Amino acid sequence: MLQFPFERPSTAAHSVEILPGVNWIRLPLPFQLNHVNCWYLSGSTNSAASSEEKSSCLVDTGIATEQTSGLWSSLLKQFDLPTNVIATHFHPDHSGLAGWFYRQGCQVYASDIEMQITKRIYSFSDTAVGEAYASWYAQHAISDEDIEQVKKLGNTFRFTLSEPPETHHSLRNGANFKAGGRTYKVLTARGHSADMIMLYCADDNLLIAADQVLPSITPNVSLNTTTPDAESMDSNPLASFLEDIEQLLQLPGNTLVLPSHGDPFYGLHERVEQLKVHHRSRCHEIVAACTRPVTAHELFPVLFNRKLDAQQLSFALGEVLAHTRYLERRGEIQSELRNGYFTFTAIKS
Ligand SMILES: [Zn+2]
Repeated sequence: MLQFPFERPSTAAHSVEILPGVNWIRLPLPFQLNHVNCWYLSGSTNSAASSEEKSSCLVDTGIATEQTSGLWSSLLKQFDLPTNVIATHFHPDHSGLAGWFYRQGCQVYASDIEMQITKRIYSFSDTAVGEAYASWYAQHAISDEDIEQVKKLGNTFRFTLSEPPETHHSLRNGANFKAGGRTYKVLTARGHSADMIMLYCADDNLLIAADQVLPSITPNVSLNTTTPDAESMDSNPLASFLEDIEQLLQLPGNTLVLPSHGDPFYGLHERVEQLKVHHRSRCHEIVAACTRPVTAHELFPVLFNRKLDAQQLSFALGEVLAHTRYLERRGEIQSELRNGYFTFTAIKS
């Protein structure tokens, strides 16, 4: 059983201190996933401390909306403007306000790949994104009505991203990062995104896990052929995700996990094993559903038991395709273009 030892912050304008100087801020999101956690690592207030020890760091920022920047304005009355801001990955709930903090004088840290993706996404027009999604949906037999809808949505990522910072500091796997008097080891993971940053503090047995391991939902693992990350992301994201999640089993089992969504928890190894089982069983179900050539659209009910709106369809399609790509590479199914649609069929062994 996972254990959740902390009460949530009472409102988005409040924080909860997890460990001395490690503060949990929970910001609202206007989506089905209705919040994102940000971690404010306070700098030392000891006047004898070095400037590095005095530096504070914010891990993830929330999306760029007036509501979120307004909340930050009131939170920054309790906390100093952070010296450094880490954007764990390009998704706007994590990196949305990185540019906003940068323009106030904060140093931004990110993986080079993730920052490149943020900048490219920010540069895409609504028409280009709408058209790309429409042709992607069409290849996988999504309804004309949903195709029309997604065209109208345009570049939804851009709506919740502030203009990206002009410069950033690179974070790389294995590097040490100092914040709030603690030393964290930078760990990276592929699959949910191209090169997502996690931070592990061995002294306190603390993992800032970003979206790699979440207590109550499964991180989205997508093969999305239309967003710019498709080129830099490994083309077998589920294999990458399963490979990179293994490193978390090397950390102590009693590590306190600070996830980006949901509450801080103990039970890292158990949760990693649950995620592995989840994907294994989804793979079995997909193979079982491919007794005849089926489209990705026909596979939706295997992975999702709810009605999806035009935008959720993109996550769902990406998720189905991450599984079919994985199974194809394992030689369990084959894909074929039939009458303009991609279909998947199980290979009988
Ligand atoms: Zn994410």
